[in-house]
Amino acid sequence: MVPASKTTRGDLRCDDTGADTETKDRTVASDLSQSSSRVERGSTQGLSVEGSKHSVDSKTLRVGELYRSLRDQGSDPNEWAYAWRRELNRGGFRAVDFLMDEVVESGKCIGCAACVAICPVDVFDYVDEKPQDTRTSACVLCVLCVEACPVLRPVDNDLPTMLHQLSPAAEDQGFGSYGYGVYARSTDPELVANAQDGGLVSALLLHGLEEGDLKGVVLGDVEPDQTQIGRPLLATTREEVLGAAGSRYTYSPNTLALREAMRRGVAPIAVVGVPCQVDGVRLQQNSSISLSTAAWYRDNISLVIGLLCSEAFTHESIEKLGEMIDVAPIRIENINIKGKVVVRLDNGEVRTASLKRYQDFARPACLYCLDYGAENADISAGGIGLDNWTLTLVRTEAGHRALQGAIDAGWVEIQPLETEPRGMFLFERLAANKKKNRPLPAQMPDLAQREALGWLNPKTFYTTGPGAPAQTDKDPS
Ligand SMILES: Cc1cc2nc3c(=O)[nH]c(=O)nc-3n(C[C@H](O)[C@H](O)[C@H](O)COP(=O)(O)OP(=O)(O)OC[C@H]3O[C@@H](n4cnc5c(N)ncnc54)[C@H](O)[C@@H]3O)c2cc1C
Ligand code: SF4
Ligand code: SF4
Repeated sequence: MVPASKTTRGDLRCDDTGADTETKDRTVASDLSQSSSRVERGSTQGLSVEGSKHSVDSKTLRVGELYRSLRDQGSDPNEWAYAWRRELNRGGFRAVDFLMDEVVESGKCIGCAACVAICPVDVFDYVDEKPQDTRTSACVLCVLCVEACPVLRPVDNDLPTMLHQLSPAAEDQGFGSYGYGVYARSTDPELVANAQDGGLVSALLLHGLEEGDLKGVVLGDVEPDQTQIGRPLLATTREEVLGAAGSRYTYSPNTLALREAMRRGVAPIAVVGVPCQVDGVRLQQNSSISLSTAAWYRDNISLVIGLLCSEAFTHESIEKLGEMIDVAPIRIENINIKGKVVVRLDNGEVRTASLKRYQDFARPACLYCLDYGAENADISAGGIGLDNWTLTLVRTEAGHRALQGAIDAGWVEIQPLETEPRGMFLFERLAANKKKNRPLPAQMPDLAQREALGWLNPKTFYTTGPGAPAQTDKDPS
């Protein structure tokens, strides 16, 4: 019998009377010792991670049990939220413990900060790219943190209606519905020079602020003394938007700045983020829990711009990149990824490094993400195809209004995607790569399991790593 004080949700099961009983769940270590090194889809669910800090009460255990049983028994993933919504109707439970246990301590948290931003009583700090429940006793059992977490479940089925998506331009190409696509860029050459690609993102934000359609923008700025480390910013001026232009390939928890926007009453706002952040925002906006924080996000975020994203990189990656190109990291002014890693130094010199080598430093957490194209954004923007232009997909009416307004006012110019067909070719391929063989994040092995398998690389885990389908035996004939 495992002593209750040392156990985690996976080690204990709660019967209907609320009494804790030892389960048959195996530990990660024993599971791995009994299986081959290949991970079957969905085969590693409900296993415990030893060393969890949280001991959870019986209601919370019951939620975890129901959640895992819905997930593991093949229920529609859009129904998984029933596990916590049911308990909410019975007076609530400590959702923070469920979230910390199921997502954060299992090492599955992608760091989107949705839970941190939406918590109405500020339970969380954000430390080392994940939430920390510093003020856990303040929890008011509202369940919003769990509602907003994109790792626990996919976005709701009714999201396309809520988003007012445009009629689709094409049959499903594997990267979400969109009305039309163009190459776009700012008409201001100085902005293009400072931007990552065509400066479309910054131009839309600046136009929105200038016209008064936006009062603020949640985006990613840089640390003053570390040019490649991102940080969130609520920008309200032209200078702030321009100062944040360009991409940092480390993770920037942009959505943390939502808290400041709400506190200061800055609205309406736009949010710029990578796809995991877009999903967090959409879950926040679309939550069925009617609390004022969720309502605030619903009413005041008027534009969501998603950046295409294959992966983000660890902070350590910047040091490693410096070694690869033989410069001090502080001299790196900009990184762009174009099949290879293109690095601009502080003196304007450009050096390149192998993307394949650099990908060894992709964030392990990015495994838990299947969205390359920011499928739930109003506008998706990326750097594939035509150089110095932004490949732009317009997905919703809000996205269309923003782009058309900027074009009409002369802030943005466009070209058809046919000018460089390789853009959409790459889009389709990169989006497919990110979904290849991957089950939903909740069904993937956790970090301890991946460590035990010796395979943390998110790019290869499901292609050439332990998650890849087993090779079928060749037909002997
Ligand atoms: C981590 C990461 C991975 C990416 N991967 C791809 C990819 O695989 N394929 C592809 O085509 N495009 C990718 N992009 C998008 C690309 O780098 C450009 O952001 C996009 O083409 C828009 O260019 P722009 O010139 O219009 O944007 P700009 O006008 O330069 O504006 C860029 C905006 O991005 C924000 N930003 C910068 N760094 C971050 C960050 N780390 N997290 C969140 N927001 C940030 C800034 O605040 C700014 O508002 C990635 C971007 C990031 C941040
Ligand atoms: S993935 Fe996002 S919402 Fe989920 S626990 Fe991590 S930071 Fe919170
Ligand atoms: S790969 Fe996914 S989880 Fe990683 S930064 Fe990009 S959108 Fe977020």
